[in-house]
Amino acid sequence: MSATETHSIRVEPTQQSRLSQVDFNNLKFGKYFSDHMLVAEYENGEWTDVSVVPFGDLTISPSMSALHYGQAIFEGIKAYKFEDGTVSIFRPEKNWERFNKSAARLEMPEVPEEIFIGGLKKLLQVDKNWVPNVEGTSLYIRPFMFGTEAALGVHPSATYKFIIITCPVGAYYNKPLKLKVETHYTRAAQGGVGFSKNAGNYALSLYPTRLANDEGFDQLIWTDAKEHKYIEEAGTANLVFRIGDTIITPHDDTILHGVTRRTIIELAQHWGYKAEQRHVSVQELIDGIKEGIVTDAFAAGTAATLTPISTIGFNGELYELPAVENREFSNKVLSYLNDLRYGKIEDPFGWNLIV
Ligand SMILES: *Cc1c(COP(=O)(O)O)cnc(C)c1O
Repeated sequence: MSATETHSIRVEPTQQSRLSQVDFNNLKFGKYFSDHMLVAEYENGEWTDVSVVPFGDLTISPSMSALHYGQAIFEGIKAYKFEDGTVSIFRPEKNWERFNKSAARLEMPEVPEEIFIGGLKKLLQVDKNWVPNVEGTSLYIRPFMFGTEAALGVHPSATYKFIIITCPVGAYYNKPLKLKVETHYTRAAQGGVGFSKNAGNYALSLYPTRLANDEGFDQLIWTDAKEHKYIEEAGTANLVFRIGDTIITPHDDTILHGVTRRTIIELAQHWGYKAEQRHVSVQELIDGIKEGIVTDAFAAGTAATLTPISTIGFNGELYELPAVENREFSNKVLSYLNDLRYGKIEDPFGWNLIV
């Protein structure tokens, strides 16, 4: 663990905690931020000035490169509080690895483990009282990095900021989703940046998603850029289906490789299910629904863990999926992950990082 134990992180505690101003029984996602944030600066080829400081506004130049050319990436992680007060972060090393893959693709510097994981542990030690302890609640963690150079030339920024902010979030009510298969707009193409968690991937999804919302859908199912034949993922979550006796999730470099999806596949294999990461065509899914062999379908991501899909819209037709209470696999995953994350059962895979 020595690589992540860092002694060089300066802590500047807040003069006035905002903890008492937050109603923990009424938490809107991503609205209430904890007292502190971790900030690190990259300049002259190295990370410097790693510190935990009071959460607050930043001063930036209007010519800051990220605002113009989009060198901006992020992660989403959750921490949970056990009944005995222990704070545990779920698989953050997977987010750290993915963060650095996103960074490499956008020609941004990597963030070393002692800053990403070590900084996160330090931040949560300082703000441990912000991790809510009611079952279903958690602390949402948002690490992000952006180019800060004040210059309009199109080139990689010479300077960057890495920041981690956190917010307590309430129990998520997973209303079943009505999703539309998108066959015109494209989220990501092969050779592009679909696998990276970069800010631009979300900006481009907003307009097609709003059009689908106007038609009564909650979200889109993106399909491949070339033929719009293969299922990719939903807006901010991966997709998992049970077709026949197999748990299937689409796979390509156009898809964000989610930690939740990976966790679910690993669990499925551990429990002896057949599990596959492969191309899934829209036709295979629609035929499966018609034949009645699609017995589970859900979106998987850190924010909501697992959200059942109730309806899929394709070419003007609606296809209904089985009742949520009859879905053996997803209900089993949900209750297992819940118990594991709140420390109620053993952690045989070493997924909980104790702060
Ligand atoms: C973050 C994200 C996911 C889910 O990833 P997790 O690591 O499971 O949270 C899926 N798709 C997209 C586009 C995402 O941004």
